[in-house]
Amino acid sequence: MVKQTIQIFARVKPPVRKHQQGIYSIDEDEKLIPSLEIILPRDLADGFVNNKRESYKFKFQRIFDQDAKQETIFENIAKPVAGSVLEGYNGTIFAYGQTGSGKTFTITGGAERYSDRGIIPRTLSYIFEQLQKDSSKMYTTHISYLEIYNECGYDLLDPRHEASSLEDLPKVTILEDPDQNIHLKNLTLHQATTEEEALNLLFLGDTNRMIAETPMNQASTRSHCIFTIHLSSKEPGSATVRHAKLHLVDLAGSERVAKTGVGGHLLTEAKYINLSLHYLEQVIIALSEKHRSHIPYRNSMMTSVLRDSLGGNCMTTMIATLSLEKRNLDESISTCRFAQRVALIKNEAVLNEEIDPRLMIKRLQKEIQELKDELAMVTAEQKTEALTEAELLQLEKLITSFLEDQDPESRLEVGADMRKVHHCFHHLKKLLNDKKIFGNNTVSNTVSSESKDQDCQEPLKEEEYRKLRDILKQRDNEINILVNMLKKEKKKAQEALHLAGMDRREFRHSQSPPFPPGNPEEGQRMRLSSAPSQAQDFSILGNRSSLLHKKTGMREEMSLGRQEAFEIFKRDHADSVTIDDNKQILKQRFSEAKALGESINEARSKIGHLKEEITQRHIQQVALGISENMAVPLMPDQQEEKLRSQLEEEKRRYKTMFTRLKALKVEIEHLQLLMDKAKVKLQKEFEVWWAEEATNLQVNSPAVNSLDHTKPFLQTSDSQHEQSQLFSNKSSGGWEVQGQGTGRFDVCDVNARKILPSPCPSPHSQKQSSTSTPLEDSIPKRPMSSIPLTGDSQTDSDILAFIKARQSILQKQCLGSN
Ligand code: ADP
Ligand code: MG
Repeated sequence: MVKQTIQIFARVKPPVRKHQQGIYSIDEDEKLIPSLEIILPRDLADGFVNNKRESYKFKFQRIFDQDAKQETIFENIAKPVAGSVLEGYNGTIFAYGQTGSGKTFTITGGAERYSDRGIIPRTLSYIFEQLQKDSSKMYTTHISYLEIYNECGYDLLDPRHEASSLEDLPKVTILEDPDQNIHLKNLTLHQATTEEEALNLLFLGDTNRMIAETPMNQASTRSHCIFTIHLSSKEPGSATVRHAKLHLVDLAGSERVAKTGVGGHLLTEAKYINLSLHYLEQVIIALSEKHRSHIPYRNSMMTSVLRDSLGGNCMTTMIATLSLEKRNLDESISTCRFAQRVALIKNEAVLNEEIDPRLMIKRLQKEIQELKDELAMVTAEQKTEALTEAELLQLEKLITSFLEDQDPESRLEVGADMRKVHHCFHHLKKLLNDKKIFGNNTVSNTVSSESKDQDCQEPLKEEEYRKLRDILKQRDNEINILVNMLKKEKKKAQEALHLAGMDRREFRHSQSPPFPPGNPEEGQRMRLSSAPSQAQDFSILGNRSSLLHKKTGMREEMSLGRQEAFEIFKRDHADSVTIDDNKQILKQRFSEAKALGESINEARSKIGHLKEEITQRHIQQVALGISENMAVPLMPDQQEEKLRSQLEEEKRRYKTMFTRLKALKVEIEHLQLLMDKAKVKLQKEFEVWWAEEATNLQVNSPAVNSLDHTKPFLQTSDSQHEQSQLFSNKSSGGWEVQGQGTGRFDVCDVNARKILPSPCPSPHSQKQSSTSTPLEDSIPKRPMSSIPLTGDSQTDSDILAFIKARQSILQKQCLGSN
């Protein structure tokens, strides 16, 4: 058992704007416990929750400042946890902090660069690397990915559903059995045999999460995501299985509702989030207080799911993500305070070992048979008649196969018949003597002297009878115990079957393994056969792009107008830079991989040649030795030495290149997944933008037929005013200008990367768009009802024409104002 308090780490996010001096300082040397001091500027301190403290100090295990790399975070925080999970302990890493402080960046990673990959992909990579290295055990890895939003759980890994909203995903519910074990009904577990498969699952979940998010639910900031790696290990031949779970948790934004200042519907939702974090806090307070018997885990789904991670059988680590800018200081102080409480919680992690009942039953059955034999041997009447010819033949066959069996544990089972036992000894003796005659001393030497007396059949003496009677009594008791144990196991197995029947996809989440205890393969087979569609799921995973394609709304089904509009949208989208950059990197990596592949092949054939040369040289030397009647020299000659060192060198080169190629493969795979994800996002945002353009067209315009006759834009007079109106219109049509700049330059630069499509237009901005602007005036009107929102290609080209008209006006306007 490992007793440990929850480890707390802090990570400071780089500020959006330039470094703000003097807001915080990190003291690494303070008696080896680093501390973070947050210094409140005077003006803020005055108004800060009824006291005027200016400085707050918090201790952490370690504090990672703005420049900490993802690699460093993984090495220092996640790797030790992953290490104990590999040993068989449960582990949890959770990120806590306000929205935008870097929780997702830390747990999953950034969407742009390979080097930005976060704890989950790095941990997967590490775990699979370790599993490959360790051939002493058999491992099974399963992945699950759960999202909790508004107290509802959703399975992010269900590929059968094309989620366009959270509600489309299968709902996960909590069940508790009489032993208070938590079962998560409907959460699927997917086996991952390689890092690549596991990564595919991560990206599938993330894509589902992104697609299911709408401007209204803002699930990414208001939900908790729990990515779990379930690891089982077993030594060959052993009946003991070890199970461990690693939860990697991206919590909802920790901001307090009072500070967000939102109202109406949004307020209710914000309260919900805070409610579950509030319950988390309550659990943590209860755990950090001594002598508290009741811990309110059951108040929320998240605390129920993470029950083991908080004060239970788990090694838990918290990362407090901090965005230490002036306006975020109060939230950062709350985060640090929360962490200080968390640090008081003690967990007790134990090795989760279980006896595999199938193997156990086999062993018990064997033992029972042996006991029965022994019993029969002592109690049964001694048979005196001679063995028949057939029986003797049968025995000799048994002996032959026993002697030929390479398994050191194989046994010669002849049953409870002393005549047979004696015949076996006779026969074995005969065989040995025969071997001796043929001069095989090595075997005869190993014969122990005891065997020489084996054929004497003395009657059992009184003393021996007594001893045997005692043993018999003892065995009787043992048999009773064993039979009872068997009965119990049988009952357990029946219960497990019953449970599986109730819901086959349900799994024991808290204390139990990812597959029913027993043979891991068996468990997996059960799971697959219970959900036949899951077999197909993996082929879906394999064909990632087609799945993503399906999810994004099928470009091939787009009308020409829509496709053209998509090209315009893509060109102007900020993410297209990332996609292009990644494409370039991918190209480079591909050619690097290709070149490496060629060099590896060359090295391989060179190794082959060198080996061949060495062999040839050997043969020559032997031939020379024979022809000249000389002994073969013991030491290789110089030429051979040289060949050997060349061979070693080539092997080293081969290994280095191979390792690099393997790493490249992972990087390429990751980049492809990042690009797929970016594409899905782009497509999703396009759909939103497109729908809005259609609405704009409905509201503002136009007999589209007369778009050709678009009046030139009203020039010069009041142009500043018009531009700002135009800007607001543009923004309502799905665009916003990044940064603080209002204005002319940004608006003019229609195609500049600075302009981002806005996936989440606010109702407020939509209202604005209905007010008339010069642009709208410039586009002739068409009756509202005549343009449906979605639909035929005619409408699509109407919208495209509308977009183009507006663009050309914007451009003209820019030229005019320059
Ligand atoms: P959260 O999940 O806490 O709401 P995110 O992880 O989404 O926050 O981070 C918000 C933004 O800040 C993202 O664009 C992310 O890429 C960036 N970011 C966060 N932490 C870091 C970091 N340590 N280094 C660089 N960029 C970061
Ligand atoms: Mg996030």
